[in-house]
Amino acid sequence: MSFFNSIGRSMARNPRPPKRSPTGPNFYQDAGAPPVPGAGDAYGAGAPMEVAPADPAQKPLYLCNPFVKAALVKGSFKTIVRLPNYVDVNEWVAVNIYEFYNNLNLFYGVLAETCTAHSCPTMSAGPALDYRWIDQNRKQVKLPAPTYIDYVMSWVQQTLDNPKDFPTKIGADFSPTFPTTAKHIYRQLLRVFAHLYHAHYNTVLHLSSEGHFNSLFAHFLAFGKQYDLLDVKDIHGGSGGAVGVGELWEKWKEMGVLEA
Ligand SMILES: [Zn+2]
Repeated sequence: MSFFNSIGRSMARNPRPPKRSPTGPNFYQDAGAPPVPGAGDAYGAGAPMEVAPADPAQKPLYLCNPFVKAALVKGSFKTIVRLPNYVDVNEWVAVNIYEFYNNLNLFYGVLAETCTAHSCPTMSAGPALDYRWIDQNRKQVKLPAPTYIDYVMSWVQQTLDNPKDFPTKIGADFSPTFPTTAKHIYRQLLRVFAHLYHAHYNTVLHLSSEGHFNSLFAHFLAFGKQYDLLDVKDIHGGSGGAVGVGELWEKWKEMGVLEA
């Protein structure tokens, strides 16, 4: 019962990579929406917001060959998302979320230098898609992407470290709200992926990491689909059709990568 969580717990002790503060130490005070554990969009509605289209003419590189096919794992993720024998499904979901979070955090740590309030004044995820944060007053606010991502990653880390959400003691059961919490985490991590694909894929290519990044995201999508953690409309964005990583999702489905 506690095997996977014991792994997770030992990983939890590893500190997150130091956060960069490209906008200076006073930035959070100026932002007017300090992070509050449990507040914000992670527990809110936070539907993707349509914004004025930017330049839709150019197809994103992540949708082009050969990059769309770059992967460490060939074929589908069918076998690695399958629930192992004798493992509780909540344990399986918990440990996988833990892995996704940590891997995404490592990628973000590398890409963070290029994600500043100047380069990314909004949490963009496509030419017509912009995510907004919901502050303590339930107001939707635009945040620079690095601020939004810091809020998300800090909130997820706190949630993972909270034994009420992610129990670690032998015999401790998962809360009945665990599936909801897991979905909230998933939704926010998806947004971080979506921003990195939209705004920082060139850097991923520059680092020759497209195979790693694609495999991590495809695994994330396949797992989310298998365990009902993903809301398809979150992947597609608004009602105007597939945008950003929504198209990638469709392409990978066509290629059979996401079959589970
Ligand atoms: Zn950015």
